Amino acid sequence: MSNKSANWFKQAGRAGNPLRRQRLRVGVTGLSGAGKTTFITSLINQLENHQKGLLAQRAPFDRLVSVRWRRDEVKQPFPYLDSLAALSAEPATWPQSTADLSRVLLDLRFKPQGLLGKVQGTRDVSIEILDYPGEWLLDLPLLNLNFGQWCEQMTQWLAQSPRAELAVSLRERLQSLDPQAEADEAELADLAGAWSAFLQRCRSDAGLSRNQPARFLQPGSDVAAQMLHFVPLLRANQHSEGNAKSWWGVCEARFNYYRDFIVRGFYDEHFRHLDQQVLLVDMLTPMDAGQAALSDLKGAMEAVLESFHYGQNGFLARLLRFRPRIRRLALCATKVDKVGPLQQRAVQQCLEDLMVDRLADVRHGGVEIKGIPLSAIRATRQEGDALVAGLQGKTGWVRYQPGDIPAHLPQSLQVNSPQLLALRPPPGLHRNEPFPHYRMDDLVAWLLKGARL
Ligand code: GDP
Repeated sequence: MSNKSANWFKQAGRAGNPLRRQRLRVGVTGLSGAGKTTFITSLINQLENHQKGLLAQRAPFDRLVSVRWRRDEVKQPFPYLDSLAALSAEPATWPQSTADLSRVLLDLRFKPQGLLGKVQGTRDVSIEILDYPGEWLLDLPLLNLNFGQWCEQMTQWLAQSPRAELAVSLRERLQSLDPQAEADEAELADLAGAWSAFLQRCRSDAGLSRNQPARFLQPGSDVAAQMLHFVPLLRANQHSEGNAKSWWGVCEARFNYYRDFIVRGFYDEHFRHLDQQVLLVDMLTPMDAGQAALSDLKGAMEAVLESFHYGQNGFLARLLRFRPRIRRLALCATKVDKVGPLQQRAVQQCLEDLMVDRLADVRHGGVEIKGIPLSAIRATRQEGDALVAGLQGKTGWVRYQPGDIPAHLPQSLQVNSPQLLALRPPPGLHRNEPFPHYRMDDLVAWLLKGARL
């Protein structure tokens, strides 16, 4: 090799030859409040401080030379600095929850392994993270429906408790609409607002998770408000028709746009490019709330897991018109610092018990699942048998016993609720020190398992 080309080789190695850079595309999701924002903030923090925390002690991170968080050139960037500002404020507060899609781009550079190292130069890996509300996945079944079928389904849902009681006056208004009559835009906007308020009540008053269309509650920035002005017509069915200006015509056109561009668009543009997925679940809050909340979580998580279920004779591929690439799923019970270290695996076990059938389907479809009980930011410390933590809105410390977590979730879903408190983030968090956590190092190691380092 001439001197000149040898030099070029070295330079390309130093610049991180983009041809050699590997890309890992990771989705992070979970229902609202699952802990996505806190998790991503901690993930970036752990990687930025890889030389000081638990990561420094384990392979392959002992060969990690540098980490760069790219704040420019990223569309809809994750608000890392805002989250850090909240966490390191005095008093510290938790960051703002995820309400829209956002992205993180991290460049990692590893020293190569062993003797080949000198020849091969460094190993570059980019981790692209897509953070999105898990609720958006609950719209997947809409891809299988036309507007008339959706009207029929909503008519059924509204006839049953608890939706029936939550929708009384709205139901009467919708029933009075003649699908063939000319639509009134102002009234339609008002009805769509009333439908959103109804979905909100379903979520907050009855704890229901399947609230459609999901974007009525979490619109995201890519949807024009007017395109969400549609409602189910309770006097319509799958054989209905109407001209373009009728209630039917207007609502059907917007429903079709919602289904074909918003729901399908998310899968086509974003979801299809992911190769691994982190699914976060707050299992402790519903365990504390009791049987009804656990049963609803089960329903919602089963619906969410449909998007990762690739067996079934290609049902999903037909619905989505492409083959999803996700082959690895990390399922994580979050905020496990709220219970003692010995109870954390039991929380994860209860979560896996809750979803046992659907997890088997997902595995059977070829996706490898890893369960990791996580705390992205550990807010408690152990003292003897008790936990010590700060309470939100208060100064000083409290000692408490978190109560029992069963080794397995009983089939009845009846558990003696653990005692949970609204905890403050720990004091003294700083961007340049690794945040305290449980098993974030396991999660980061899992993420990179797919890379050739
Ligand atoms: P998102 O809606 O999925 O983005 O969830 P967030 O990240 O905003 O988390 C919701 C709330 O859960 C936070 O405001 C915290 O109160 C709590 N939380 C999240 N992660 C942790 C954790 O690791 N430990 C504890 N104790 N609480 C957490």
